[in-house]
Amino acid sequence: MSFTLPTHVDTRPLAVIGGGTLGRRIALMLALHGADVRVYDTARATADTAAAFVQAARPDLAAALGGTTNGALTASTDLRTALDNAWLVIEAVPEKLALKKQVFADLDRHAAPDAILASNSSSFPTSAFRDSVADPARLLNTHFYMPPQARSVELMSSGATADAVIELVSAEFSRYHLLPHIVRKESTGFIFNRIWAAIKREALSVVADGIADPADVDALFADLFRAELTPFRFMDQVGLDVVRDIEDHYAAIAGRENTLAPFLRSYIEQGRLGVKTGRGIYDDYA
Ligand code: NAD
Repeated sequence: MSFTLPTHVDTRPLAVIGGGTLGRRIALMLALHGADVRVYDTARATADTAAAFVQAARPDLAAALGGTTNGALTASTDLRTALDNAWLVIEAVPEKLALKKQVFADLDRHAAPDAILASNSSSFPTSAFRDSVADPARLLNTHFYMPPQARSVELMSSGATADAVIELVSAEFSRYHLLPHIVRKESTGFIFNRIWAAIKREALSVVADGIADPADVDALFADLFRAELTPFRFMDQVGLDVVRDIEDHYAAIAGRENTLAPFLRSYIEQGRLGVKTGRGIYDDYA
């Protein structure tokens, strides 16, 4: 039977699979604007922490963004309970291909037949999980950044996603005060990630080559782009180990060497990973 678009989406729940860093933030944005959200995580403690995170963050955020605090949020370690009647299921489990494939096979089997299945993966297009689902018309990437600070979400087809699926998710996300952007064709790296990769690479190069200090680069961005978050401050937030891993990944796909690895290693080997360790490119986070 081919996929048919879900109906009555305004009265049906949404499910988030994985309640870690991103899953709980996605749940927060949906619950903030009145959705009935079910978070599923295999770890009971994480499911509970995700629910507590949403409850704690909601009042301030509702005041700041004009949302509500009355969306229902339940956290569960039972997949079927979380999926029951959900019209949209957003996967946010760790970035491991075999795991994601298994999760999508389970979602395909247990979610409502008309549920849309989405992945928050940063580096796997959903075409990589197409074989896990009977009909990839229901499958797409919904790539969130770091809500609630960032409300943009990039929507990317599995290559077979029904146009109506992308239109529906885009319209519903706008209702949740998110900012959807449609990726027009399959891409390794989402729109912003790709542009940011180029800025990051060149910012690191001018410093590694001794042409500028990080503070010069950041001051130029602050002035010329009126940027509040500048390249090296942003890298310190992401974590320099993560910056290195992502650049390794892009370099491997492009078949070139990651020439910035030695520069990043010089910080990483000192435990200067960024905000999370109190010191990174800058040392004023403690
Ligand atoms: P995370 O490790 O913080 O959270 C993953 C959660 O998934 C954990 O709580 C874990 O217990 C749970 N989990 C593991 N196996 C599971 C399963 N089979 N079913 C349900 N839950 C399971 O990871 P994260 O940083 O939230 O990343 C999740 C996804 O979001 C990844 O695909 C990543 O690429 C993407 N993403 C992350 C960021 C970021 O800044 N962290 C930004 C954008 C996109």
